[in-house]
Amino acid sequence: CGIVGYLGTHQAAPLLLEGLGRLEHRGYDSAGVAVLGPSGIKVAKRAGRVRDLSEGLPKRFAGKAGIGHTRWATHGPANDVNAHPHTDGKDRVAVVHNGIIDNAAALREELHEAGISLVSDTDTEVLAHLVAGSDADTLERKVAEALGRIEGTYGIAVMHVDFPDRIVVARNGSPLIIGVGDKEMHVASDLAALVRYTTTVAHLDDGEMATITASGFTTYRLEATGLAATNRRAKTLD
Ligand code: GLU
Repeated sequence: CGIVGYLGTHQAAPLLLEGLGRLEHRGYDSAGVAVLGPSGIKVAKRAGRVRDLSEGLPKRFAGKAGIGHTRWATHGPANDVNAHPHTDGKDRVAVVHNGIIDNAAALREELHEAGISLVSDTDTEVLAHLVAGSDADTLERKVAEALGRIEGTYGIAVMHVDFPDRIVVARNGSPLIIGVGDKEMHVASDLAALVRYTTTVAHLDDGEMATITASGFTTYRLEATGLAATNRRAKTLD
């Protein structure tokens, strides 16, 4: 339903929670955040309101990169386990996802046969496992490979412990906007979550992917042959 992301010089969690609060008007049943910091990826998520999530957040939740989500359940009931972000079970990969993966049942079955146990009822969790299981050498290629396996709609944001300097986002049928700040970057599925921080934004197209680092972003088109740079630039809203 709603996605936010942050990468920069400040602690991510308070900014993510504030951004999620600005998406509340869209309606949702669960909320969660993941941060990537000195001790790896940490996840906090639960059914209920963003305020409940904020109040229950662990004291030590440090990280200057993070992703957050408000969920509108399509696969599995609204409960703490089904809330996003989803991980690979080892907290090496964290994913938030808007949309619906149509072939999730087949992919769950395939992962199950490979000995991988899924903990949620969601379609989204397969994405975290597909990214974690990819042999590709960059996070961009891992995510592209995972997306190549899925059918359906998505706006996603992905973090990986082996690539702590970046967040990879992609869109197919579900909006994603990049916001350029001063030595920091934001992402969101809705302008409402960005405008407090920046009005310099870039909208991704369907079939497009982007790498966000603290100093900027790079966009690609997902093609059968791999990733082709699209060199999208941010524009300042008037
Ligand atoms: N299909 C996903 C789920 O049920 C994402 C739903 C959404 O867009 O919030 O968890």
